[in-house]
Amino acid sequence: MPLVSLRDVAKRYPSPNRDEPPISAIDGVDLDIEAGDVYGIIGYSGAGKSTLVRLINALEPATSGSIVVDGTEVTGLGERGLRELRLGIGMIFQQFNLFNSRTVRRNIAYPLEVAKRPKAEIRARVDELLEFVGLADKAGAYPDQLSGGQKQRVGIARALATSPRILLADEATSALDPETTQEVLTLLKRVNQDFGITIVIITHEMDVIQTLATKVAVMEQGKVIEQGDVFDVFSNPQHAASRKFVSTVIKGVPSPAELGVLRERHPGRIVTLSFRDGDVSQASVFLTLAEAGITFELVYGGINDIQGKAFGHLTLALQGDDAVIDRAIASVAERVTVTEVR
Ligand code: ADP
Repeated sequence: MPLVSLRDVAKRYPSPNRDEPPISAIDGVDLDIEAGDVYGIIGYSGAGKSTLVRLINALEPATSGSIVVDGTEVTGLGERGLRELRLGIGMIFQQFNLFNSRTVRRNIAYPLEVAKRPKAEIRARVDELLEFVGLADKAGAYPDQLSGGQKQRVGIARALATSPRILLADEATSALDPETTQEVLTLLKRVNQDFGITIVIITHEMDVIQTLATKVAVMEQGKVIEQGDVFDVFSNPQHAASRKFVSTVIKGVPSPAELGVLRERHPGRIVTLSFRDGDVSQASVFLTLAEAGITFELVYGGINDIQGKAFGHLTLALQGDDAVIDRAIASVAERVTVTEVR
């Protein structure tokens, strides 16, 4: 049984103008998150990602549909049930949301104090967590004495205090520089691997998906338009809208503006070849073009690595007889994905 399961979930907010129809933030979402997954939720701003996470956390009720978390139907839970559910779910935020008037130790202790655990138990648990996130020497510091990366590590320790099975992360690394991002991602990977905690992470950052996520769901206008293994979705997105989103975060696909520049420089035909690990070699493709007498120039490209598997996009400007190019492209298209740039 999945750890989190959504069926036909909708969330509507009343419109600020009373005459207008409600705002549909989530619209008919089906989603299964298995125990142990690191599930990335991606999509443009306003797609419904944060709302989805608030529904899983039962911070807000869904308008309709079913949400089952760890075997419990969330819809219709009373206050007590909700409190218990939330103890099993940790949450970290882009802006860390630490208490500035509390020390690092007391920030981490907070959820345990709320749960009225004995003092000795709290002390022991916080010591353990300080060690785990590498901040044992900062126990007495206040948040404004810490770097962004250290603050997020406190956030992670606090989220883990009650030993949740699920960690929800809303743009947890978006406020951090690239190096600190990697540190925090490494820590989150340990959270997943050492403790088997399932992580659901909202992000617009490719780094996060590349180093951490195993599965991904692409959202648009309140709907999940594509979901699956990260490598499959990123190397071969099926839906036009996910292709568009994916092309903005991966390397090697020229933006419309960049294409305009390429067009001006290269009046002939332009094609993008998409290679995936395990496809035929690039050499065989180039050989086909060369043998047909087509002159080609590599004008744009990039390779992406997702957890040890590579895929890439190479854009070529071609020169030669049109009919010859047509035949060569048809032959190449049997081996790799070819997109002609118009
Ligand atoms: P994302 O996290 O992908 O940026 P959100 O979940 O924040 O998207 O928002 C999805 C849609 O729901 C947006 O149109 C947003 O304006 C709307 N929305 C989100 N929260 C509220 C709210 N509390 N009241 C009214 N509308 C909201």
